[in-house]
Amino acid sequence: MFETNEVKNATQVAGPLEQMATMDHEQVLFCNDPDTGLKAIIAVHNTVLGPSLGGTRMWAYKNEAEALKDVLRLSRGMTFKSAISGLNLGGGKAVIIGDPHKDKSEALMRRFGQFVESLNGKYITAEDVGITTRDIEYVAEETEYVSGLPESRGGGGDPSPVTAYGVYMGMKAAAKFAFGSDSLEGKQIMVQGVGNVGYNLIKLLYEERAIIAVSDIYEARLKAVSEEFNVEVVNPDSVYDQNMDIYAPCALGATLNDDSLSRLKCNVIAGAANNQLEDENRHAAMIMDRGIVYAPDFLINAGGIINCYSEVIGYNREDAYRKTEHIYEVTRAVLEESRSNNEPANAVAIKMAQARINAMQTVRAKR
Ligand code: NAD
Repeated sequence: MFETNEVKNATQVAGPLEQMATMDHEQVLFCNDPDTGLKAIIAVHNTVLGPSLGGTRMWAYKNEAEALKDVLRLSRGMTFKSAISGLNLGGGKAVIIGDPHKDKSEALMRRFGQFVESLNGKYITAEDVGITTRDIEYVAEETEYVSGLPESRGGGGDPSPVTAYGVYMGMKAAAKFAFGSDSLEGKQIMVQGVGNVGYNLIKLLYEERAIIAVSDIYEARLKAVSEEFNVEVVNPDSVYDQNMDIYAPCALGATLNDDSLSRLKCNVIAGAANNQLEDENRHAAMIMDRGIVYAPDFLINAGGIINCYSEVIGYNREDAYRKTEHIYEVTRAVLEESRSNNEPANAVAIKMAQARINAMQTVRAKR
């Protein structure tokens, strides 16, 4: 799922070590435990800035190759996300192969926690798709290298409101760039996916009197959102054909592809979903050619990791929100450089992240 073409091409021909080399990974741990049924992969992409932090995703992958592709791609994204957000964290991610509704158990999660522990802090885990705060509490029975614990246990709780706040900041910066004002009042905004982040984003947009359209494949979520807010509900298949000023992808990855980009009529793309570009290079270039302002996903959805980082260094909600607010300034800087260099915003953001990693590597070498 969600892989870029770049990754797909690499994985069709390459074995795990070659794939790691192509994407610059430091270490990948394959975990197998027949007693609990655990099959997991932990990918540590880069630890120059600090321990790698990224959530664990539980998903019914079609096969191991698909799971490996996903974890390699996601962990690489985490490296750039933390680097551009100024966090002292590297990039990592884990996947558990299985159906989260059927295959999960306390024993499986605790066994997974033991594998996390075996990396001695090189990887810190948290929630991702298919993993709840309760699951993370089980993991925490076996390892201290965990974030995303509930507030009652000294953690930061659900990161989604913080993520939504960062997306909102990035969207405002992109709006300022596209329309000359960062006010979202009266702007037509299409929110695709009204889950944890989408819902919290809608709250913020609604307060600012944006004109909101929503779409989801989960009827219950749509019902809840349309009962609480005055929003237009759009069929999932017609999302890209709507008139809109801003498209906010908050569901799955890879929604920016040949099909959607040939149909989308918007000025700004700014949303929470990870890995929105199906092909990191080609589709970023297409977006720029079409004159659409793109707020890079890993930059503007960093609120969640900022919240987790705060938990690692001693949780302070105010500080997490303050750091998340800074996404506005970084997005502005990325978009300005993108315009003056005539280079896609995503590429500019990756360069900025990589520059910080390189600079800190030099500093580290002098310790
Ligand atoms: P979620 O599972 O709570 O919500 C996703 C929603 O998208 C669900 O309601 C689902 O039904 C809907 N959806 C799935 N396919 C769809 C489709 N084709 N069309 C419309 N809707 C569809 O997840 P979330 O926590 O809100 O995260 C949303 C996205 O943001 C994910 O890509 C996630 O990786 C990313 N993200 C989340 C966080 C966080 O703090 N939760 C942080 C960074 C990035």
